[in-house]
Amino acid sequence: MDRYAVFGHPVGHSKSPQIHAAFAAQTGQVLTYQAIDASPGDFGPAVQRFLALGGLGCNVTVPFKDEAFRLADHCDALAEQAQAVNTLRLEADGRLGGFNTDGVGLLRDLTQNLGVVLISRRVLLIGAGGAAAGIVGPLLTAGVAELVIINRSPERADALAARFRALGPVRQAPVEFPGNGFDLIINATAAGLGGKAPALPQAVFSASSVAYDLVYGRAAVPFLTLARRRGATACHDGLGMLVEQAAEAFWLWRGIRPATTALITALRQA
Ligand code: NAP
Repeated sequence: MDRYAVFGHPVGHSKSPQIHAAFAAQTGQVLTYQAIDASPGDFGPAVQRFLALGGLGCNVTVPFKDEAFRLADHCDALAEQAQAVNTLRLEADGRLGGFNTDGVGLLRDLTQNLGVVLISRRVLLIGAGGAAAGIVGPLLTAGVAELVIINRSPERADALAARFRALGPVRQAPVEFPGNGFDLIINATAAGLGGKAPALPQAVFSASSVAYDLVYGRAAVPFLTLARRRGATACHDGLGMLVEQAAEAFWLWRGIRPATTALITALRQA
């Protein structure tokens, strides 16, 4: 049977096996998809063992997206921009292709599922890690008026903004003074996993702000609660992005695009 997997550490909590099993059932594809917990330092060998046993592709999550970028023999434009890979595919010639579907996943959730308009909007991005790197390029390409990046370690936000400056209006700002009244505020930090919201001045929110946290479920509660208290009217977690980035990976592997809406609803109700 065709084999796929998600590599991470830890990875036991991952919903990806459930999501890809649902996609396979929906599209009539016969495949297996498992979660593989790779030890830090063993990611590359673990992927090679998986491929030697017939693996055809895998997703890659925290903390291995940078290593996956280096492991790939070639990468698509989005992965090159992000310098991070969340999807690997064994090509017909035996080479390993690297892709980044995080940005596509976020944009599909925002624009198609949630009806958020991006063109000419002012966006604040909190965080400068691997996930942030995957979404800066697609946000700029979508035509936002301004993308401001803030991060706990400001030098990482500065470096990220500098890498993408040629693509559009992106800049780094100090956490204390990012600007006022953003249309969209995206939390791409891991703070919620520790039960915290990232530090943010009150004025970044307005009554018409949309708040979006890349994490989902309980981990999204601190940031989304803060956003609601400070006046944001539309607050969303990253479950839709998770399903959409998985659908893009499924399409890269199988050439079929699964439907996502019913699955997002079912996962939310589970
Ligand atoms: P990462 O590379 O480890 O980066 C973590 C980021 O969070 C850094 O900017 C870090 O700041 C910041 N941070 C961590 N703890 C913080 C705190 N207490 N206060 C303020 N900032 C804090 O991780 P990543 O790959 O970017 O992933 C970030 C989150 O997005 C993860 O929780 C991941 O699960 C989620 N994600 C979701 C999806 C989806 O499909 N929904 C896709 C990708 C990622 P420093 O630079 O100062 O350390």
